Amino acid sequence: MITFCTISKAEHDLFGELRVQMVEQDLVTRDITDIPTLRVMSLVPRHCFVPRQYWDVAYADQPLSIGHGQTISQPYVVALMTQYLSVRYGEKVLEIGTGSGYQSAILATLTDQVYSIEIRKELANLARSSLESLGYTAVRVKHGDGYRGWEEFSPFDKIIVTAAADHIPVSLIEQLKEDGRLIMPVGDTSQSQDLMLGEKIGGEFKDSKISSVRFVPLTGEVDKRME
Ligand code: SAH
Repeated sequence: MITFCTISKAEHDLFGELRVQMVEQDLVTRDITDIPTLRVMSLVPRHCFVPRQYWDVAYADQPLSIGHGQTISQPYVVALMTQYLSVRYGEKVLEIGTGSGYQSAILATLTDQVYSIEIRKELANLARSSLESLGYTAVRVKHGDGYRGWEEFSPFDKIIVTAAADHIPVSLIEQLKEDGRLIMPVGDTSQSQDLMLGEKIGGEFKDSKISSVRFVPLTGEVDKRME
């Protein structure tokens, strides 16, 4: 498939090779061992989700600006979160912080139901059109504040929050299915945060730290609810 953001077959092939290199050099050599995660990271065209001026570094292991003061996470962090979320086909996933739509595309390659909320209208529109043009029909993008989740389509098997806050929003925990998993960076938004992975077992939510990360802050209602 030649994507809408690739101008020639040679370019398409080059990006494909760079993706495989990224997987081999930056993911396999670290602690990314989950085969479905490695497979989707080698398939989804990250360059299609970053501004044209960054195409030459689209497969380097670094976050990149997507405008509006926001960033697309570095590939390693996307892979780490994907690996721990462990999405299986048929599961319903909620993402808070669509941003470029790259993480949504990764999730949509693993399952057929992805719901994603983005608070900035321009980014929500851009992500929606990138995802549509690339054929990621499993993703439904909504412009809004994800603090209270997406009640209409709840409960979710998996929830991923790709912006940081000092607490996990209660509504998200409520909208998680029994045995469901939630992953989110939690901590001081001006510094690095703890990447927390939680599970709901017997109606109780328990979480633990899996790594240290640095994400842009969750904004909107969360600012009025500092705990
Ligand atoms: N997952 C994204 C990266 C996200 S950056 C990707 O793959 O590109 C974090 C995003 O969260 C930003 O786009 C920001 O605008 C958005 N955001 C911040 N607070 C939010 C909120 N309360 N609800 C929904 N989106 C939010």
